[in-house]
This record gives sequence, structure tokens and C-alpha cells, in this order.
Amino acid sequence: MELQKYIRDVQDFPKPGIGFKDITPLLLNNEALTTALDAFIKLVDGQKIDKVVSMESRGFFFGPMIAKEIGAGFVPVRKPGKLPYETIKQEYALEYGTDVLEMHIDAIQQGDRVLIHDDVLATGGTAEAVVKMVEKAGGIVVQLDFLIDLTFLDGKKKLEGHTVNALIEY
Ligand code: IMP
Repeated sequence: MELQKYIRDVQDFPKPGIGFKDITPLLLNNEALTTALDAFIKLVDGQKIDKVVSMESRGFFFGPMIAKEIGAGFVPVRKPGKLPYETIKQEYALEYGTDVLEMHIDAIQQGDRVLIHDDVLATGGTAEAVVKMVEKAGGIVVQLDFLIDLTFLDGKKKLEGHTVNALIEY
């Protein structure tokens, strides 16, 4: 099944000049949703994973489903001030300025084998920040699995040394 036809291009969202990859048509279609989830499970290839870590908010669609299927726990990474308990924080660079991501301090145990999942790999800044945060917490990043890789932005370069997969490439 060609998953790419379930990705909608929305021009000028969220700002003028940006072409946004909208994954909601894929979520809406049960066959596409199932095909994508099955493909994510296949990428794990039976490796032991303790935690699936996903970033707010579109990483939360598939992250918990992948975790459930592979027998792992799920860890949400969120924007500052959203998580109720004590957090570890990771700053990362944006085009203009910086942003911060947070994760609960007890989410990752020393030596946990971690799969990082998000919907889109663009410049790689977000994923790089999550890798740093997971490693700071003592986790081992086994692989990073994305639904979409915008390869022309070269996000993989920021994740060098890690296994990076995507179901759809542009
Ligand atoms: P990066 O840090 O530049 O790699 O951006 C990745 C983050 O931005 C991910 O959390 C994505 O959810 C989001 N993102 C960037 N571009 C798109 C897009 O076209 N569609 C959906 N999400 C996007």
C-alpha cells in the first residue's frame, strides 16, 4: 500500500511559506493506519525495547500504539509547563531563538533501551534534543522511527551514529 497518498500537503500552515505535511488522512483510513503501525512494528524486528519516547503532540498518535504492540512503556515528551511532576529539561535551537522540551524525571531508568518516535523528521533539532534528554537520563537510544522524513532538510545529519528509519520520504 502506498502510504504517501494519505499525506496531505497544506500550503502556508502554520505560517505563510511553509508546506505542512498533514498526516490526519492517514489516521482517518483504517487500512493506512494499520499498514503504518504494522510497518513500525516490523522496524523493531523483535529487538528488546523498554520505552517508546514520543514528542508532543503528533508523536502521541503512533507512539503508544507501538509501545503496546512491542511490550514497552510509553513516555511523553512535552513543551515546558505541561508535565505535572518533576522533569528533566533539554534546550534546543530553533531558527530564531531556542525552545525547551521536558520529560518526567522517573520516565527512563538507567540502561533502558529506547525507541524514539515522531510523525515528521524535518531539520532534526527536535529529535536531537530528545536523544540528548534520553541519554542524560541513562537510556540507550536503539532507533528513531518517523512516519515522514523530509530528506531535503537533512535531519539525519543531526542524528549521526543512530539508526534512523522513516516510512515515507520526501
Ligand atoms: P525538526 O525539529 O525541524 O526536525 O521538526 C520536527 C518537529 O516539527 C516534529 O515534532 C514535527 O511534528 C514537526 N513538524 C515539522 N514539519 C512538519 C510537517 O510538515 N508536518 C507535521 N509536523 C511537522
